[in-house]
Amino acid sequence: MKITNMTTYLLPWGSLFIKLETDEGISGWGECSPMGGHVLQAMAAHTLKPLAIGGNPFDVEVLWQKMLLSPYKLGPSGAQSEAISGVDLAMWDIIGKATNKPVHQLQGGCFRDRVPIYYSYGWDGKATVDDVVRIMSSQVDQGFTVLKLRMNYGPLRGEIANDPAIPMMKAIRAAVGDEVKIGFDANNGYTAHKAIQVGRYLEEHVGLAWFEEPTPQYDYLAMAQVADALDTPVSAGEHEYTLWQFRDLLLHGRPDILQPDLVKCGGFTEAKKIAALCEAWSKPIVVHNTQPTLGTAASLHFCASVSGAMYHQEFTGHRAELSALFHNQLEFKDGYLYVPQGPGLGLEVNEEKVKETAVSVI
Ligand SMILES: [Mg+2]
Repeated sequence: MKITNMTTYLLPWGSLFIKLETDEGISGWGECSPMGGHVLQAMAAHTLKPLAIGGNPFDVEVLWQKMLLSPYKLGPSGAQSEAISGVDLAMWDIIGKATNKPVHQLQGGCFRDRVPIYYSYGWDGKATVDDVVRIMSSQVDQGFTVLKLRMNYGPLRGEIANDPAIPMMKAIRAAVGDEVKIGFDANNGYTAHKAIQVGRYLEEHVGLAWFEEPTPQYDYLAMAQVADALDTPVSAGEHEYTLWQFRDLLLHGRPDILQPDLVKCGGFTEAKKIAALCEAWSKPIVVHNTQPTLGTAASLHFCASVSGAMYHQEFTGHRAELSALFHNQLEFKDGYLYVPQGPGLGLEVNEEKVKETAVSVI
C-alpha cells in the first residue's frame, strides 16, 4: 500500500482536517490542533506531504520519524508536531480500515469501552459568580459528577487582584454539595507562590480534585514548587510536544497527572510512547482534548488502550456545525463517551460537506 495524495481542509472555526489517499482506494482522516490553522495547513501541505507520499501507512513509525527529522530546523515543539499529529491519526485510520479493526485494537486492546467525562467551563472574563453557579449546577442536574472551572488567565498573569476564581469556586461548592468533584484550571496564570496560596486556600475551603496548569507551561521549576507544596494533584501536559518534552516535564515539573493531547503531541505514535513514560513514573494520564469529532475519537481509542487513562476526561460537547461533517456521531450518554467500534477511528466523514465548508483546501 502506498500513500498517493494528501489534502488539507481548513474549516471556518480553525479545525484542520487531513485526508490521506492510498493506491488501494482506502483513505484516512486525521485532525490537527485548531490554533494557527493556516500555519499548520502550510506545514502539512508543503512540508509533510512530499515526505508522506509514496510511503506505506503501515510503516507509520518510519514515516513519523521522517516527518520529524527531515524538516527538523522548523522545530518539533509546536506547529511541526501538531501537523504530524494530523497525518499520524490519518495513517492509523487507514491501518484500521485496511485491517477492519478499530484503532484501539491495534494499540494494545481495550481496558475500557466507555470513558467518563467531566464538564469543563471556561470563564470568559465577563460571567458573574451567579452565572457560573447556574451553569455548573445545571450540568450536575444533567448527571455530571465532575466539574472543572478554567480561568482565562493565560500565560503568567501573575498577581491577580481580587482573584475572581476564589469566590467562584466557593460558590460552586456551596451550590453542588460535597459529593461532586471540582477541578480548577489556572491556565498557566499564576506565579509559583500565588499558585501555592490559591491551591492551599481551595484545598481547605473548597476541596480540589486537581489543579491544572497552575504556573506558566514553560516554567517547569515553578510547577515543581507548586506540586511539591500541595496535597492536591497538579496536572499539566497540554502544551508539551514529543516524548522529550514530556520526559523533561516529568523530571523537572513533577506534575501528578499528565495531559497529552493527541492532535498536538504527535498523534497515536508519540502518545503511546508518552503513555509508556508515564507508566514508568506511575503517573496517570488524563488526555487534553478540545476537538469534539476526529480528535475526540482518537482520544477515546487512546484511553481505551492505555491502562493509566482511567480518570474523567474533558469533552467539549457535540457541535452542530462539526456534527454535520460526519455520517455518524460519537455516542455520549449518562456522563460517558463510548469508544467507537467501527474500523479505523470509527467516524465516517461526509467529504462533500467538508469540501463545501472548508475555507482553504491545499
Ligand atoms: Mg487546561
